[in-house]
Amino acid sequence: MANELNPEDLESELRIAYQSGSEAASVSFDVVPSNTAAAEYAKARAAEAVTLIDSTTQAKLKEIIAEAFSDPESTMDSITEDIDAAGIFNPDRASMIARTEIARAQMQGTISVWQEAGVEVVDVLLGVDACELCQDIAANGPYKLEDIADDYPFHPNCNCSLVVVSFS
Ligand SMILES: [Zn+2]
Repeated sequence: MANELNPEDLESELRIAYQSGSEAASVSFDVVPSNTAAAEYAKARAAEAVTLIDSTTQAKLKEIIAEAFSDPESTMDSITEDIDAAGIFNPDRASMIARTEIARAQMQGTISVWQEAGVEVVDVLLGVDACELCQDIAANGPYKLEDIADDYPFHPNCNCSLVVVSFS
């Protein structure tokens, strides 16, 4: 449970977050179904940022992302296929949405754990081949968690992540 985590646990959590993020560029990163904080986030807010779709489509998308965290067999490919099969997006966009929404749910789940644990300052850990936007954001860090939490992911397909700098 989120509120049972201590700072030492958080360190290993963020190492996991970093590994999953850093692998995103080369392969596809693994969904972590045991990440309950991410699952809760996905259930509550996944797909909200996917714009220019109607509410029915958004609800369907949210369901697919949320289900991904409750199904231990989920992979990035299977999620992309599910989104593709919903019939609304072309395969490229389905893949982008899967990647971005899973990254969002995982990082936002982690952020909610950090907030409970009193994390105050975070920094941006650039993903492989990070874009100029993210390099600029990282160059201006570190940030107060509250100031940057809502901005992640910084753009579609972003594979950067946040890391803890200090606790309050
Ligand atoms: Zn990025």
